[in-house]
Amino acid sequence: MEFRINPTMEQKILIWKTFGCCRFVWKNLLDERISYEKMNKGKLLNTTPAHLKKDNSFLTEVDSLSLSNTQLNLNQACKKLFPKGKTPKFRAKEKDKRSYTTNWINNNIEIILKSDRENYIKLPKLGRVRIILHRSIPDGWRMKHATIKETASGKFYISLTFDVDTEPIETRKKFEKVETFDYSMPSLVVSSSGENDITKDDIRWYRNLEKRIAKEQRRLSRMRYGSANYWEQKHKIGKLHEKASARRNDFLHKLSRKVSDTFDAVVVEDMNLQHMSKALNFGKSAYDNGYGMLRNMLSYKLNNQGKVLVKVDRFFPSSKRCSACHEINHELKLSDRQWTCKSYGTHHDRDKNSCKNLLDEGKDILNRWASGDSSLILAPSGVLSEKKLHPQAHSNVRQDGE
Ligand SMILES: [Zn+2]
Repeated sequence: MEFRINPTMEQKILIWKTFGCCRFVWKNLLDERISYEKMNKGKLLNTTPAHLKKDNSFLTEVDSLSLSNTQLNLNQACKKLFPKGKTPKFRAKEKDKRSYTTNWINNNIEIILKSDRENYIKLPKLGRVRIILHRSIPDGWRMKHATIKETASGKFYISLTFDVDTEPIETRKKFEKVETFDYSMPSLVVSSSGENDITKDDIRWYRNLEKRIAKEQRRLSRMRYGSANYWEQKHKIGKLHEKASARRNDFLHKLSRKVSDTFDAVVVEDMNLQHMSKALNFGKSAYDNGYGMLRNMLSYKLNNQGKVLVKVDRFFPSSKRCSACHEINHELKLSDRQWTCKSYGTHHDRDKNSCKNLLDEGKDILNRWASGDSSLILAPSGVLSEKKLHPQAHSNVRQDGE
């Protein structure tokens, strides 16, 4: 997982020093290994950078783990190349990849969450470095190592490697609390519990940010291309976009966390992509579709707890079916928010009826799953569905449920 970091000038200098020290260790150890290999045909030297530190005290100023990792990388390269009669390359200063790797030992690396917008990562020797956390790190992931790098344009990134608990989590067979999410036209997303609806009010902050972006964009269009003001304004807009997507992700993460902790299973419709991008559309400043993101977040958060996301076939008539008597109302139009079933006169709120149908169908699927129905399939991502779902290829066919 890669994150942008914004080191201070002082921290940058120390990072550059570390790059230099790694290069120094690589070069000197390589020299030693080459001459040792020549003298003792085929034997490999495996010294640590410790002896280099004695004569070169500047090496002690930087993260010692970065030097150990350089040594390990060099050993691997020697092992591979020496038997072929080749030697690893000396690292030229300009060509050198500007990065170093350090390891997680006893909380020497730690993510410090301060606020929505301000977070830090604690690193050996560097201390707290500002980090842009564009996504959350799942619970139970243990940090292994971190690589700090600088791009050609002078941006700094850190890529974190984790040990993920690979112990398989047993999927449960009993699902007592079930929630459903359904796409709804005037509001955005409705839930059968009624507690997790997403209304336009819930994402008003997002619309406001969008309006600001549009305003700043108009200002930009009046500026002379390439002028100092232009770049400043462009930068400002970029920051607003970042803010918008960070807040959206945060919102969806919190909702999916709450739902996956509270419920044992969540039922959704297997929508086609076109419909999915219309549901929970966050607007122009976030081109990716919010509903798809929410479903992905739900599926992995549920999966981590042995819970499932149930996908109901898109041709299941969730809107047109009367949830009381299962009669299909073929005359139901998209604009009908309320309707009355002709068979027994049951009055329906469109969204509530649709959610009830999805919930019943989802529970039915869960029961079939529990009794070992082989026409169902549980994907490794924790999505439970019929083996034969109607394929996406028919996405231009009008959905029965609509
Ligand atoms: Zn009915």
